[in-house]
Amino acid sequence: MEHDNTGHSEIRIKGVAVSQGIAIGPAFVLGVDHAEIVLRSVNEEEAEAEIVRFHAAIDKAKKELAIIGEETRRLLGEKNAAIFDVHQLLLEDPELVGETVRRIRAFKQNAESVFLQVIEQHEQTFSHLDDEYLRARVADLRDVKRRVIRHLLGTQHAASASLTQPGVVIATDLMPSDTMHQRREFVLGFATEMGSRTSHAAIMARSLKVPSVVGLGDVCRFLNSGDPIILDGNAGEIIIHPAPGTLQHYQLLQQRFLEYSRKLEHGRRLPSRTKDGKDIDLAGNIEFFEEVRPALEDGAMGIGLYRTEYLYLMQDDLPSEEDQFNEYVRFIRAAGEHPIIFRTFDLGGDKAQRHFHVHQEANPFLGFRGVRLYREREDVFRTQLRAILRVSAFGRVRIMIPMVACVSEMRYCRSVLEDIKAELTAQNIAYNPDVPLGAMIEVPSAAVTADLIAKECDFLSIGTNDLVQYSLAVDRGNKYVDQLYRVFNPGVLRLIKDTIRHGHEQGVWVGMCGEMASDPLATMALIGLGLDEFSVSPVSLTVIKEIIRRVNFDECENLADRVLSYSTPDEVETYLSSVFRRKFKDLLFYETGKPRGHSN
Ligand code: PEP
Ligand code: MG
Repeated sequence: MEHDNTGHSEIRIKGVAVSQGIAIGPAFVLGVDHAEIVLRSVNEEEAEAEIVRFHAAIDKAKKELAIIGEETRRLLGEKNAAIFDVHQLLLEDPELVGETVRRIRAFKQNAESVFLQVIEQHEQTFSHLDDEYLRARVADLRDVKRRVIRHLLGTQHAASASLTQPGVVIATDLMPSDTMHQRREFVLGFATEMGSRTSHAAIMARSLKVPSVVGLGDVCRFLNSGDPIILDGNAGEIIIHPAPGTLQHYQLLQQRFLEYSRKLEHGRRLPSRTKDGKDIDLAGNIEFFEEVRPALEDGAMGIGLYRTEYLYLMQDDLPSEEDQFNEYVRFIRAAGEHPIIFRTFDLGGDKAQRHFHVHQEANPFLGFRGVRLYREREDVFRTQLRAILRVSAFGRVRIMIPMVACVSEMRYCRSVLEDIKAELTAQNIAYNPDVPLGAMIEVPSAAVTADLIAKECDFLSIGTNDLVQYSLAVDRGNKYVDQLYRVFNPGVLRLIKDTIRHGHEQGVWVGMCGEMASDPLATMALIGLGLDEFSVSPVSLTVIKEIIRRVNFDECENLADRVLSYSTPDEVETYLSSVFRRKFKDLLFYETGKPRGHSN
């Protein structure tokens, strides 16, 4: 086993990469150390003083939250800031505040230990609830708990203080307030025990461009503040007490990553055009409002996939037409003259349909998902279409339907859309009557009959994440068959080729919003197959544009022909890797950090 300079063994822990980059520095472990909270008995007079001290701590916490909320609102918009309003409300909750005061008086104990008991009882209750949304509120209670206790213990309490020098912030769960509370110049990275790619804080870390890894399990057990640590936001790993060789390796990698990112930045304002003058549309895939501006600033010419179902997943009730209108209008205003493709809600599959509760399914990915839900819950579909159509009066809105398997589904969607247009006209409500309607091509039958589907719509967008899953019969989320999930399978490549050809023959443009579009290894082949639009994860925008700008269309066509002549995904990848190494040696850093064949 390797050791660092102080004789500690090097420990590597795998998590989920949520924000690119490499951080090297001392760990800064956030959290209240409960050992420091001692239960003290007090007399009657002292109990009253404890209550005054408790109220003062609550006031300070509220003032702090108001400031952080304002700052967040300014930097990241209303959506991220709303959480701090919730925290302020929690600090007014009589069940928390009133109950703590009552118990201090009744049991004559010190404020911090009574408050801890009360709030942890709430945490317990919430964490056992069936409702996912309410369970998620435990994180808010913890955030509020830490903030108030920090004030009760005094500002010098190191465990939850702010960074005063550069460090890698480690926490059980990263609260939005932790992200915003820290001085940005000191934050080298964020690592958490819990969380997912789409957790609020992960999104914030990406928006702030701070390297970040989540889902590390009980990492805090191995760590003390000050321990040397490496955080690899590309591979999704942290290394505690790195051995000298490891440290050196990562220092080099970090240097290379910085050079790599800097070098790519220069292309942000340049056109997305091949050397011989073919324009290729480059767009971003997003889930949240906060991602719109950064994607455009990084060179996206629009949003090629806005997964609207996240709005449904984040709320307890179904969002009303007004909720949706207010939300979507923010997106379209932020996009300015750029288009946004609103994908109508794609619930079902792995995105729980708690709003519908229609059926218990053995194979949800083959079940009631995407467009299939719309007929059964036409009311929900109509509400969303009305909101999107109303927003089309404010900017360049496009609408896209997920999980289309046959022509009749598209015809159905078109007829509902036309019906709503007539309704809006009758009600004198403004909308764009020519709003383009597109189909996602992510089911093999749709790819094979893309000519028929193209006749029913204005554009196609290939969703490779699902197209690979359905054409190879490999569950995109099942780690046991992960090695079978291959985007370069010749069967998948032929489906992509045919879809593009069919679309063009019918005079519609064809894009791709699946993760394959973000894979630098695939870029030349997709250009050669005639793909008109690449809609990619925002972090991949600069590298994909760089590749587009360095190639000629005809060399891409030749490469695509060759790619289609191979019989196995390995042969395709070996060939593409050799071309990549030859042509884009300086972009290789990217390739090392990214697994091939990924679905998410
Ligand atoms: C896809 O399937 O490729 C896609 C972009 O949709 P999602 O990943 O949301 O299923
Ligand atoms: Mg899909």
